Amino acid sequence: MKIASVAPKIQTGHTPEKVMSLTCPVVDTEEPPGNREIVKNIEEEPPSTQASGRYRFFWNVTDSCWKDWKWQFRNRITSLEQLVELIPLSAAEQAQISSVIQRYPISITPYYLSLINPDDPNDPIRKQAVPCIEEISMGSLGLEDPLAEEKDSVVPGLVHRYPDRVLMVLTDICPMFCRHCTRKREWRHGAWTRTDTEIEAMLVYLRQHTEIRDVILSGGDPLTLSTTQLESIISRIRAIKHIEIIRIGSRFPVVLPQRIDAELCNMLSKYGPIWLNTHFNHPNEVTPEAADACDRVLRAGVPVNNQTVLLRGINDNVTTQTRLCQALLKAKVRPYYLFQCDEVQGTEHLRTSVETGIKIIEGMRGHTSGLAVPNFVIDLVDGGGKVPLQPNYVLSMSKDELLLKNYEGKVFRYRNPGSRQKAVAEPAMSGVVDSLLADASQPVKVEG
Ligand code: SF4
Repeated sequence: MKIASVAPKIQTGHTPEKVMSLTCPVVDTEEPPGNREIVKNIEEEPPSTQASGRYRFFWNVTDSCWKDWKWQFRNRITSLEQLVELIPLSAAEQAQISSVIQRYPISITPYYLSLINPDDPNDPIRKQAVPCIEEISMGSLGLEDPLAEEKDSVVPGLVHRYPDRVLMVLTDICPMFCRHCTRKREWRHGAWTRTDTEIEAMLVYLRQHTEIRDVILSGGDPLTLSTTQLESIISRIRAIKHIEIIRIGSRFPVVLPQRIDAELCNMLSKYGPIWLNTHFNHPNEVTPEAADACDRVLRAGVPVNNQTVLLRGINDNVTTQTRLCQALLKAKVRPYYLFQCDEVQGTEHLRTSVETGIKIIEGMRGHTSGLAVPNFVIDLVDGGGKVPLQPNYVLSMSKDELLLKNYEGKVFRYRNPGSRQKAVAEPAMSGVVDSLLADASQPVKVEG
């Protein structure tokens, strides 16, 4: 993998860096530069521990810095020394985090850290952002690359698995390192973005393969690139006649919503149809800042879908998922997928049983708008693709009739017109159906 000379340096736990000074210059650069830009003191005293969010952790940061995505990016928390200044950690926790980040580094934006309740060790934001010892103590479970993305790469960074769509992996840099990340394996390679030569090789492949109609920009997080760099790539993709849609996969609206600025939105509005898939996992993430970011990109003509990962102790219950999806709808974001957490090494402690996911969908379906209910899917190992999983609402089925269970558990008969009209029944299917009916020995309440 080549490393572009323009790639911003990312600070990892291997080489912690100290805060150097306290000013907040305006930096007008293309790239989010390296870490630890600077904070301006605007108050004499820090607020009390009763203050929440930004004003508890970053009371001395000016509004202009806070709203500047490059400032946020430069000031990511990337070392234990920085983290311990902000969140209370016992000596044992510090020792554990210190050993975990040797393998899986830390990166948290000030904005995202400000959403953590520091007094709650089980805070759902904290669990997504702060390393824990299970990442290595359970590290033998799972696979490095469960989706076999490397196997399906046709040129470096271009994954062509499905007939009509491709994935362009533009960088491995993310503003926040999610502890459940499927591409955790990439973190140890340091920070890289694709070179111009690599991008051009991908574009050559796209131009040659007229069956491709859908290009997904991914990473890392592609919005880590400057808007100018993104426009250079997106405009060249848009110039390929057979490419119908461009999708961007980004967690910026969640972890650094300031990135969705006017410059980016103006650029995206020129190259539609573009879709944005983002990644909210908990209702606490749907803040006014995040909702505003979604609103800005929607007004640029970019529909926003959400892909949640089901995470143990974070969002693995009906109440949290319902609150999340209802909050997303209020922000005009469509809940699209609920993913079973992939079998990735270093994430086993966050994985739940598949039954949990099915029960969540069952608990949501009918109890809130269908628009709020995502598709629960497993992304199969070895590149097998996505498989949707649903609660079982079909108790039995014959060529004439189905027995269907509704969201309240009531059972209804439903006449099967298609089969009767055709007057044809597949013998094998009938056998299965008949045995299902015969086996329906449980007493059921039949209405209608
Ligand atoms: S934003 Fe996505 S790619 Fe980046 S660390 Fe989080 S899950 Fe991984």
